[in-house]
Amino acid sequence: MKYCQGPKCHTYRTKDRIRGPKGAKYYQTRRRSEFYYLGGNACSLNCQNDWVNKFGDQAVNHFGRIHEPIRLTQDNAWVRDYDYDWQTRTMSNHRWVNTITQEQRPMTREQYNDHSLVRP
Ligand SMILES: [Zn+2]
Repeated sequence: MKYCQGPKCHTYRTKDRIRGPKGAKYYQTRRRSEFYYLGGNACSLNCQNDWVNKFGDQAVNHFGRIHEPIRLTQDNAWVRDYDYDWQTRTMSNHRWVNTITQEQRPMTREQYNDHSLVRP
């Protein structure tokens, strides 16, 4: 179990956040085994936004601010694709597709599943 990391989570007054005996009620941060926001650390989009608004600038500086544009060129524009047959529920024709040149190159299913490959 872990607590939502939203800095204002306890201020959202919902029934599931109420704790304490009659006369001494309070709201507290949500606690769950799993969350679906902020990479599994926030209970809601609101709490995710609160975290990003408070810590986003520090986080970007910590993990590496982009100072130059990142470019999508022919060299790094390869994505994986395949055809799916809904009748037989099978995948076929696995291939690389270059999103800039539209060039296609066949690949095996094993290559498709190997995520260490980023281009043909
Ligand atoms: Zn929360």
